[in-house]
Amino acid sequence: MLERLKTLYELQSIDDQLDELEELRGDLPNAVEALEEKISSIKNDITKKEEERKDSLKRRKENEDEIEKLKENQKKFKAQLYQVRNNKEYDALTKEIDHTEELISKLEVENDAFADLSKKLADEIESVKPQLEELNEELKVKHADLKVIIKANEKEEAKLREKRKEIESQTKKADHSVYMRIRKAKKGMAVATIKRSACSGCHNIVPPQRQLEIRRNNKLFFCEYCGRILVSTEISESVTAD
Ligand SMILES: [Zn+2]
Repeated sequence: MLERLKTLYELQSIDDQLDELEELRGDLPNAVEALEEKISSIKNDITKKEEERKDSLKRRKENEDEIEKLKENQKKFKAQLYQVRNNKEYDALTKEIDHTEELISKLEVENDAFADLSKKLADEIESVKPQLEELNEELKVKHADLKVIIKANEKEEAKLREKRKEIESQTKKADHSVYMRIRKAKKGMAVATIKRSACSGCHNIVPPQRQLEIRRNNKLFFCEYCGRILVSTEISESVTAD
């Protein structure tokens, strides 16, 4: 039982050290992730606008071709006006000319709108580019900072992870899962010790009778206030001394 308790305390002490390394990174990993998301969303937005712009340019070109054709027809119709033989033919032809005129001006109005749209999209794309550049620069800096921190502690972290694996393999499965459950619920500390008659996790006084029982190191005890595993100072001191 003594070994079981020691193993749990050891697990806690390694996780504490790993947590400390994690803390050194501070908010950097989150900041990097947030920046990456923002950049990708802006890029998507730009791509969408570029496609929309390309489409409006294409439709504008199609309209221009159509206008060209209509204008050719218009020339022919106007030439035919000189060759009409009666009023009926004249009316039909002028009707055709008016209709073509209408079509041309409708297409021209449409093209003005396409031109406005593609100008607006191009402006929007241009205006967001400095922001994108800034964000990319910021990301580069944060990435580099993070790399430095990770690099500085790489060896220590690897050693700790190796040791943790070893200790985990020595831990009873049931103990480990209890440990992990409490660790998750308490955001870190799952194993507490007794300091000045109180639980080191929640600082509530542990009754003297319970302290005596815990000191026997023959049973798994939980703090009745915070639910953490409570081990005696004998355990914690022997592990720290290792
Ligand atoms: Zn407690």
